[in-house]
Parts: sequence; C-alpha cells; structure tokens
Amino acid sequence: MLKVNRNENIEILSYSEVKRVEGYVGNYQVTVEKKPRYVNNDCNGCGACAEVCPITTSNYFDEHLGPRKAIDIAFGQAVPFLYDIDREVCVECFS
Ligand code: SF4
Repeated sequence: MLKVNRNENIEILSYSEVKRVEGYVGNYQVTVEKKPRYVNNDCNGCGACAEVCPITTSNYFDEHLGPRKAIDIAFGQAVPFLYDIDREVCVECFS
C-alpha cells in the first residue's frame, strides 16, 4: 500500500465507493462517491483526538469485532493515514 501511495501515476481514492462504471476498454468513465471523514486533510495522524474521545464503539473495518473511538483510523496501516469521525456515535462534545 505504501508503494502504491508513493507512485505518482496512481491516485488513491480511499474511503470511497464506485457507484457506476460506463464505457469500454481504454475509455471508461467511473463515478466514485467519496465519503466524508469529517476531519480535514491537515490531520497528521498523531492520535491525540482519539485519546480524548469519550466514545468507544465497534470497528467497522474488522467486522465490528474490535473497538474504535468515535474518531479513529480504521486500521493501523491505513493509507492515507487519516482519521475519520463515525457520525452515528459521535456526541459532538467538542462542538
Ligand atoms: S466530538 Fe465526537 S469524535 Fe470528537 S471527541 Fe467528541 S465524541 Fe469523539
């Protein structure tokens, strides 16, 4: 994943979902929905936000078998290393 991230010919669309694929070999048009992280791209991945977040929930990345905070990273090797907020459990204590 790090090698892909460093390749300047590849654009990673993380936290995204392919909605539609049209066209033919050599001429595809793909519609991708980027999901909101509710954290801006200035995040340096320090983890200070998750340390103070009072909400613990289950982690969607590992089929809800492990815990995560309302603001967290899906897994330790995520690329890019950006936090996201689970708005369904966030209590907006820092609003
Ligand atoms: S605002 Fe939401 S994500 Fe941030 S610390 Fe509070 S509960 Fe956690």
